[in-house]
Amino acid sequence: MRYISTRGEASPRDFEGVLLAGLAEDGGLFVPETWPVLTTAEWRALRGLPYPALAARVLALFTGGQPDEAALKPLLEKAYAGFGHPAVCPLVQLDTRVFALELFHGPTLAFKDMAMQALGLLFDTTLARRGERVTIVGATSGDTGSAAIEACRDREAVDIVILHPEGRTSAVQRRQMTTVLSPNVANLAISGSFDDCQDLVKAMFADAPFRGEMKLAAVNSINWARVALQIPYYVASALALGAPDREVAFSVPTGNFGNVLAAWAARRMGLPIAQLIVGSNRNDILTRFLAANDMTVRSVEPSLSPSMDIQVSSNFERLLFELLHRDAGATAETMRRFRTEGRMPIPDTAWSEATQIFRGFALDDAGTLQEIGRLWRDCGYLADPHTAVGTAAALAVPPTDPAIPMVVAATAHPAKFPDAVHKATGISPPLPSRLADLYDRPERFTRLPAELDAIEGFVRAHARRNTA
Ligand SMILES: *Cc1c(COP(=O)(O)O)cnc(C)c1O
Repeated sequence: MRYISTRGEASPRDFEGVLLAGLAEDGGLFVPETWPVLTTAEWRALRGLPYPALAARVLALFTGGQPDEAALKPLLEKAYAGFGHPAVCPLVQLDTRVFALELFHGPTLAFKDMAMQALGLLFDTTLARRGERVTIVGATSGDTGSAAIEACRDREAVDIVILHPEGRTSAVQRRQMTTVLSPNVANLAISGSFDDCQDLVKAMFADAPFRGEMKLAAVNSINWARVALQIPYYVASALALGAPDREVAFSVPTGNFGNVLAAWAARRMGLPIAQLIVGSNRNDILTRFLAANDMTVRSVEPSLSPSMDIQVSSNFERLLFELLHRDAGATAETMRRFRTEGRMPIPDTAWSEATQIFRGFALDDAGTLQEIGRLWRDCGYLADPHTAVGTAAALAVPPTDPAIPMVVAATAHPAKFPDAVHKATGISPPLPSRLADLYDRPERFTRLPAELDAIEGFVRAHARRNTA
């Protein structure tokens, strides 16, 4: 299994190569050279497997034997051992047609743990075998950072520096990052938006000497391994609801487009997915794109669902590459114009192809609170604001067929966003016991302006490989 860049100028890599590289050196994103496609019999054979075993089988389709399924299985069993539910990601029925796929039973209570807990172990085993170290840098709007830090804390071969937009993450999100005092962990509070943080990370990767000197690696959602590790839960939930002998649909609250891209990948692999609904908050660039082929960047507005406060969805480039029939030159040119003009020129034929599968729906904060209240009153279900965007989108978009079950990705635990949940329901969802003392733990972070020099200087000083 080889990986190519969406911009066509980077040399192909194997799975370990893309795991450690993150972004391709031409600025593109790695994608499989060919998609594995399963037969109906092969999908059926995955039914009933425990989640780690199913995930190992699916991930092995993307690793080309290094590591192989036999090595992946214990690794994934370890990754999911600390999750708070024996099914890892259980399905909860909300009404006749709609189900919540709970992806938040990991250590940081958000779906990022599903990929990140495994990614940390994949990094460690791969680096140990190669005798290498890396410095992970990442940008977070809240959940990626804490999930990455939990996955990498105290690991021998890894230093990690996470940038978050100061004041734009919830207190729980910030504390889940800043209360980790391990020597290999550093948190930077950047005066700017999440997109500023993401741009700074991209600029560090684009700075070839710095990238080489620090052995930079990425664990944000541009890393292919993360997308790959998100495919199995779409498979598991679809199988539980009758696939491959029955179609399913998914509604995914979306920011960087990584989670829903994994659902698209499962569909590309032959899983019968009838429809993918992309839920957004007031930062509705994807909704505008899907409604009217208008991918125009506006300023990022804070919302009740901060992990979706994003205008530039970095994983969209992987879909764009496919919509342009894998024309890397056209993809590179489209991305260049998006960057310089703030508007992505997508041919109408490619856009209408996207609308065959994807539908968009945007919900403002008032609507989000209403939906959290409705879910509690009507279904007895406490949902966080991100999940509520997903359920509202699932109900707002007409189904292709009402007999097709609709699965909503429940991406965060309600206790992660207690203020919104309390406002909407009057209930303060308690943190699970392992996090109960979060508000009493000391914090450590450094404030920096959104300037590349300052950030690179900090990373240089922090990385242990540099001071050892
Ligand atoms: C990261 C995140 C999202 C958005 O996922 P993407 O892969 O960036 O689209 C949605 N909800 C929660 C709770 C998240 O942490």
